[in-house]
Amino acid sequence: MSQKLRLATVSLCGCFGCHMSLLDIDERLLELVEKIEFDRTPLTDQKTLGRCDIGIIEGGVANAENVEVLREFRRCCTIVVALGACAVNGGVPAMRNAFSLREIIEESYLNGVGVNEARIPDDPELPLLLNQVHPIHEVIRVDYSLPGCPPSGDTIWTFLTELIEGKPISFPYEQIHYD
Ligand code: SF4
Repeated sequence: MSQKLRLATVSLCGCFGCHMSLLDIDERLLELVEKIEFDRTPLTDQKTLGRCDIGIIEGGVANAENVEVLREFRRCCTIVVALGACAVNGGVPAMRNAFSLREIIEESYLNGVGVNEARIPDDPELPLLLNQVHPIHEVIRVDYSLPGCPPSGDTIWTFLTELIEGKPISFPYEQIHYD
């Protein structure tokens, strides 16, 4: 039986920049796959989620599908990590919280600059938007938060290696200042 930890990742309402930052660990990815197996993640394109040791979430919670996916990650993953500003505090997507959903939809689809065909999309397959974008800790319990937009590849590497080895998480100064 494999002794490797299982790790899943997902992007909710994010830009995939945090996943790009995960790839910035470069050749250390090879070291990582010695210690973990990937479950559902955009890196493997696996769509279903199994039991996992670690679930990493990028992005804020902006629609009903995000809520469903997030709750599934909480059910299936022993440790849940909020990766990046959008997951930690709503970040860029939460800038829409200053406006009502009606104002946003009308600006985007009816009245905004560059709108050619004024029509609000209504396909039943589209997930319903929430009135506001939420950080993930407002929807589920979160075990660790890694701020930054995005957190650097080195920060992610330090976090993952210490977590996998069961050590207390401790960052060098260069990895936790953001100016
Ligand atoms: Fe993109 Fe920054 Fe949000 Fe990460 S925290 S998903 S890099 S906007």
